[in-house]
Amino acid sequence: MSVDLRSDLIAAAKHFYDRGWMVGTAGNLSAQLPDGSFWITASGRPKGQLTDRDFIRINLDGEIVEQPVSDSRPSAETSIHLAVYNSFPEAKACYHVHSIEANLVSRLTAGDAVPLPAIEMLKGLGVWEENPQVAMPLFPNYLEVTKIAHEICEAFAVSRPKVPALLIRDHGITVWANSPAAAYNYVEVVEYIFRYMVAASQVVRF
Ligand SMILES: [Zn+2]
Repeated sequence: MSVDLRSDLIAAAKHFYDRGWMVGTAGNLSAQLPDGSFWITASGRPKGQLTDRDFIRINLDGEIVEQPVSDSRPSAETSIHLAVYNSFPEAKACYHVHSIEANLVSRLTAGDAVPLPAIEMLKGLGVWEENPQVAMPLFPNYLEVTKIAHEICEAFAVSRPKVPALLIRDHGITVWANSPAAAYNYVEVVEYIFRYMVAASQVVRF
């Protein structure tokens, strides 16, 4: 792991871009330093070609503390990362991607949570139960991102989800973990589960 974590984020973004989950400039990744500040992808940068300069360091009050390129702006979705770090003190990395499957899965339910199939891969999200009943929180998508972030904070202040992931309707997933490596795995596992759900939605009701 690199000292300032940006190389972990660059490698993860390249991989997710190659999978079609960070097409163009979509999605954003962040990782937290020991002082609580976090590096987050700058707005509008192509996610398959990030460099160390395509990040901005933000503190937990949302203020910029380091900015390699003076006219860069933090990701438009920084407020969601702040909501995650402030809701889960153990979170040290937060990854958000836009996959086609996540958009489709969000249309499988009208409620505020997506029931997940009781498949082996749930263990990859820390669910170790026989035939688990697990749902992923589902939030409405608003043009005003701070409104989404506010709803996330409110929901997680009341109840903690069983999985370290949330879905925004017609938009994409956000995962959090205690390290960039674990967040990377969570994205892979959630996207696997979603591919399964899309394939199974033709024949199986969850
Ligand atoms: Zn997004």
